[in-house]
Amino acid sequence: IWDSNSALQPATWGGWRCPKGGGGERHSTPKSRLKLVQPVIMWFRQDLRLSDHPALSAAAAAGPVLPVYILDDETPGDWRWGGASRWWLHRSLEKLNISLPLVFRRGRADEVLAALIEEVKPQGLYFTRDYAPWAGALEERIKNHCDSHGVACHRYGGFLLHEPESIRNGSGEFFKVYTPYSRACFAKGPIRALKPVPEIQHWQGNVQRPALADLKLLPTKPDWSNTLEEHWTPGEAGAQQRLFDFMDHGLHGYATGRDRPDQAHVSRLSAHFHWGEISPHQAWHAVERAMHEAEGKLDRDGEKFLKEVLWREFSYSLIHHVPSFPTKPFRREFEDFPWTDDRDALRRWQRGETGYPIVDAGLRELWATGIMHNRVRMVVASFLIKHLLVPWQDGERWFWDTLVDADIAANAASWQWVAGCGADAAPYFRIFNPVLQGLKFDPDGAYVRRWVPELSSLSNGDIHKPWEMAVPPRNYAKPMVDHGMARDRALAAFKTIKRVENP
Ligand code: FAD
Repeated sequence: IWDSNSALQPATWGGWRCPKGGGGERHSTPKSRLKLVQPVIMWFRQDLRLSDHPALSAAAAAGPVLPVYILDDETPGDWRWGGASRWWLHRSLEKLNISLPLVFRRGRADEVLAALIEEVKPQGLYFTRDYAPWAGALEERIKNHCDSHGVACHRYGGFLLHEPESIRNGSGEFFKVYTPYSRACFAKGPIRALKPVPEIQHWQGNVQRPALADLKLLPTKPDWSNTLEEHWTPGEAGAQQRLFDFMDHGLHGYATGRDRPDQAHVSRLSAHFHWGEISPHQAWHAVERAMHEAEGKLDRDGEKFLKEVLWREFSYSLIHHVPSFPTKPFRREFEDFPWTDDRDALRRWQRGETGYPIVDAGLRELWATGIMHNRVRMVVASFLIKHLLVPWQDGERWFWDTLVDADIAANAASWQWVAGCGADAAPYFRIFNPVLQGLKFDPDGAYVRRWVPELSSLSNGDIHKPWEMAVPPRNYAKPMVDHGMARDRALAAFKTIKRVENP
């Protein structure tokens, strides 16, 4: 049970020996204890940064630090990191390892930590809380092990602005609808102050130090990562740079520009947030400061951005309260939805060969760069679910493997949102027309031209519906389904499921 009521507090379990107080400062250890040779273990997870890091600040104040990263492919089961995530993780750890030499381990995190505790006899273990469906039980096991071995176990927030338990409606329940959720977040008042990079004393004791390469995170045979290398700079410095660039060039005009895949108005911070290379607090403060300095001129853009960050928080609140979210529809009637099992259709969609230019551009952008613009994610997801009647979970899986920002909460909540089966979802009967979406959000065809070069010479009028040309380009697929037919088929399928009372 979580008893922290604010991200200001170190996140604690009831009954833990965690002190109360702001952001971990009260964890500081009396000077006499600092002389002990026993280290404190800092277990890094999705918090690969040094600044504004509550758990690291507390660990550094408590004693000499032994920083550890564990690649745990067992506990998450089917949700072990996908290919693009593993590439990012390697690059990010490489950077962190320069400032803070890490001990790399592989295996079940609780078992690895138990072995490490046996090996180095630490005085304490520090880590940042994770909210994935399996994480709570894992953390509980680790805490129990620490308790029985006299090791103080300290769990902190830091990945989210608000602990999921701290935002509740008037009846004390979690929010199922985004707007009141976001209002409740804003009503909580200012976000806590940022924490500086702590002074860290490195533990000098002996411990086995396998190389990062031993984790085998990078792709081989084939190595498809060169295009990712061109687009991204994983790590804390890359995250900070991305934030600065966004503040300088993207934020102004974000409220409308964020829907345009042909423009550079979005922050592209999602993977950095996901790996904790930057805290949401850092982005929040930067945007609030910019809004303040612009004296009202940035209010609309800034507020829109902050609200998007709260969609991330909302996704985590949902997954925390409904751990089946990544696999099962929140609205139970969708369990009876008559999906098809058309593997060929799924493959054509994955390869970006559907014959709908905006859909294909998005899927090819994803394959080449590990990212896809949010507007286009909605269009391609809607196409898979509604035009092809392929289960949303298949698309979610593909994204899990290919996105550099693949995130257990945001991915699941977003797929369910598009499918109409989520908590606060778009209604199922709202079916995107891929041609109209293209014409509206990529009016000059620049986005399609970039990712579907076969169409690059087409006029703005033709580029989103090349099959209507007198002589359509021969090297581009014909639409795999007719939009009107697919729409009617999807609505008919929807009518077959019965409404049930949802939680
Ligand atoms: P910005 O527009 O700059 O937004 C700022 C931040 O707000 C983002 O970095 C992100 O952390 C958060 N955010 C924005 N939109 C959403 C949203 N709808 N839900 C949750 N958080 C949001 N986002 C992921 O981080 N990981 C995923 O695996 C993921 N899968 C998605 C799957 C589908 C089908 C859809 C429709 C959306 C998905 N999203 C996912 C949400 C969104 O598309 C991305 O967060 C966004 O495109 C990231 O780009 P950005 O950082 O430039 O966003």
